[in-house]
Amino acid sequence: MIHTQLFIDGQWRDAAKRQTRQILNPCDETVIALAADGDRRDAQDAIAAARAAFDTGSWRGSTPRQRSRLLLDIAQLLERDSEDLAALETLNTGKTLAESRTDMGDVAATFRYFAGLVATDSGQANAAPEHIISRTLHEPVGVCGLITPWNYPLLQAAWKIAPALGAGNCVVLKPSSLTPLSSWRFTQLLTELDLPPGVFNLVSGGAEVGAELAEHADVDLVSFTGGAQAGASIMRAASGNFKRIGLELGGKNPNIVCADADLDTAVDYALNAAFFHAGQVCSAGSRLLLQQEIHDEFVRRLAERLPRIVIGPGQLPDSQMGPVQSAQQHDKILSLIAAGVKEGARLVYGGGRPDGERYRNGYWLQPTLLADVHADMLIAKEEIFGPVITVERFHDEAEALRLANGTPYGLAAAVWTRDLERASRMSRALRFGTVWVNDYHPYFPEAPWGGFKSSGIGRELSRIGLEEYTELKHSYINLAPKPMGWFGA
Ligand code: NAD
Repeated sequence: MIHTQLFIDGQWRDAAKRQTRQILNPCDETVIALAADGDRRDAQDAIAAARAAFDTGSWRGSTPRQRSRLLLDIAQLLERDSEDLAALETLNTGKTLAESRTDMGDVAATFRYFAGLVATDSGQANAAPEHIISRTLHEPVGVCGLITPWNYPLLQAAWKIAPALGAGNCVVLKPSSLTPLSSWRFTQLLTELDLPPGVFNLVSGGAEVGAELAEHADVDLVSFTGGAQAGASIMRAASGNFKRIGLELGGKNPNIVCADADLDTAVDYALNAAFFHAGQVCSAGSRLLLQQEIHDEFVRRLAERLPRIVIGPGQLPDSQMGPVQSAQQHDKILSLIAAGVKEGARLVYGGGRPDGERYRNGYWLQPTLLADVHADMLIAKEEIFGPVITVERFHDEAEALRLANGTPYGLAAAVWTRDLERASRMSRALRFGTVWVNDYHPYFPEAPWGGFKSSGIGRELSRIGLEEYTELKHSYINLAPKPMGWFGA
């Protein structure tokens, strides 16, 4: 049995109230770990440690090369222990080992990417008279509260930790109370390196730890990935001291297939878009929009593939889809499917727990296909966050765009077409932070990630993802000061 602790001011310790939280295996609901369950007091201690480290410590004044070196060292440790980390992520989230291995590769790549960016960041000299040195400098924001969700625990954390530390900030990480294990293991790796106390702190626990980070006056920036409700509450709390905020929220992502698309590939990717990590992906292509001419054939082909998806524990090499992460998520998905059927959607496949002894315990769901869905149904509007594809039909490009954009969310969208002119036109018209054409899901550290509209504020990854963790300073040095004689001379 794993026992995790908090990491505050360079020390491992139990939660102040010595409380722990049971961490369950989503495959069979057995207890796999007891995680330290921090509360507001622990969060306050961590914030104080981070504040002191930032205000009086050496990290903020470290050179870009030193910070870049640290990120590279972290990447190396992550690569050394990637199998171990992937196994832990699979155990805790239920995702397949192949997916967790991909995640760990991406986690290390994130640290490597920001190491490169940090090393070359020297600010910018501004045009000015000869006796003036005017520079735009990137300085760390200060103490950063990082709050992460349960679907990509270490990957989402890496997108925040790497640029935050790289820019010279001190951080307090709060992972989801459901999936704290990989963040705890990551923190163990950090202790192998020479990081000053207080620069990195880990406080596992529930929403109150996150709320404390959002409210506390000594936190300068809060970066949150999670649901809209918590995001709104964080935004309100952060207004107390006008914190910088980054919000990566949910999505209701349209995957649009035009009649001229390569159907074999589009069908294959539609499955990947929707069932990767059992659909628990913020950018999941759960809302399939099919052009009238290909609609029936496309649905038929999907229905043929669904029974062949191998559902099983992520550790087994033949498993293609694991369970969903929690009982709460399981219930929510089932109730949304029921609501869809009640509103007139046609259940083509799935809709419940798979048959068989293996699936009796744990949060298992069949891959599910609902057709004849209309834009005004709950399942076309709410983020389902499970292995469910809803299918709507459209007649022409204008209708596809109207349906696709008719959501308050704006995280990701895809278009399948062989017509490059249409591809370009639709990419521009879709109001989403990422628009893929003839592909689904790729993201990488070099490109920005984030949402339009209610999918969030700010961007992660890319150069912009680093700038989110910096304050811009105009440094102005007059090399030849002389009296001005303006007043009373
Ligand atoms: P959640 O909002 O319930 O929780 C996210 C984190 O916030 C957890 O650590 C939680 O403990 C904490 N939290 C909850 N309430 C809080 C509050 N009031 N104040 C401060 N912290 C609080 O989300 P979740 O269920 O863990 O994750 C699923 C959601 O995350 C989905 O909506 C998904 O779309 C979104 N998500 C978005 C992205 C993205 O890049 N946009 C990526 C992954 C997940």
